[in-house]
Amino acid sequence: RMMKRQIQCRSDLGRLNAPFLAIYESLIPAEEEKAKQKQLLTLLERLVCTEWPKARLYLYGSCANSFGVSKSDIDVCLAIEDMDVNKSEIILRLADIFQSDNLQNVQALTRARVPIVKLMDPVTGLSCDICINNILAVVNTKLLRDYALIDARLRQLAFIVKHWAKSRGVNETYQGTLSSYAYVIMCIHFLQQRRPAILPCLQEMETTFSATVEGVECAFFDQVEKLRDFGSCNNETMSQLVWAFFNYWAYHHDYANSVISIRTRNIISKQGKDWTRRIGNDRHLICIEDPFQVSHDLGRVVDKYSIKVLREEFERAADIMQYDPNPCGKLFEPY
Ligand code: ATP
Ligand code: MG
Repeated sequence: RMMKRQIQCRSDLGRLNAPFLAIYESLIPAEEEKAKQKQLLTLLERLVCTEWPKARLYLYGSCANSFGVSKSDIDVCLAIEDMDVNKSEIILRLADIFQSDNLQNVQALTRARVPIVKLMDPVTGLSCDICINNILAVVNTKLLRDYALIDARLRQLAFIVKHWAKSRGVNETYQGTLSSYAYVIMCIHFLQQRRPAILPCLQEMETTFSATVEGVECAFFDQVEKLRDFGSCNNETMSQLVWAFFNYWAYHHDYANSVISIRTRNIISKQGKDWTRRIGNDRHLICIEDPFQVSHDLGRVVDKYSIKVLREEFERAADIMQYDPNPCGKLFEPY
């Protein structure tokens, strides 16, 4: 399959750049959405602090990593030191507090893998999920945001890839396809691999930010304002990158042997990580190393059926990028 084709990039890709940029622009959240997020966060902080004065709230996920499209739900993490009470009790108590303050659709999901409270704020119209002490997610959110500040093409590519994945139904972890977080990591890896590289490897540079979270050492270079010119030797446009991204995952990635790793800026071997066979529910059919929890394969949700769906979608996208006269329309057609 990998040998299937060595194709040449189509010659009119330049013409497609403007339409892709227009789609990207249309997905960017308006400034007023940011203001509403702040407003809701302030309200939640006030409510939470009456019960736990030392607690802090952090935004994480797409509302804070700069990869959020407009009208996304917001993800909030409550950081609380006092863990005498267990997470379920905190979740239930939070739900009580929010309910009595007229927040709507308040639900306490205490049995979920990551227990959360869900709510909707009628004033801003925003929905939000609140989890407890998920500090690793707060730190990986910062890593993603810092990468996005280095080169504008990361955010552009990731918006297009996320938009494609949502349109095509392959952004559903409960159905065995990939999370938005996994897709952004795939985009970072891909831009690290371009020659000349468009992104550096922040975790291999001098440490300017570090945190130890749940025994995991998270260290990287975060003075990204110093890296604004990093990708300037590479002139590839968005449409070229979209084409090459899908082409890579359709025809060039070695699914049998390779793990992508933004931590090392490399492709590493499945063998080395002992990810060559199914262990429990982890099948390792597409291997994406988490940058901090390196024993986590973000592709572990993918099973023998969904890997087929996923690869067929990569191939469809690559073929549309290669041959379709109007790829912007076709790529995002609902499945
Ligand atoms: P969307 O716009 O689709 O809501 P999102 O950026 O919020 O995208 P999600 O995949 O919903 O992405 O994940 C939210 C956050 O949760 C991520 O930014 C990341 O911090 C954390 N996260 C999600 N999945 C994992 C995972 N498998 N391991 C570690 N952290 C994860
Ligand atoms: Mg989210």
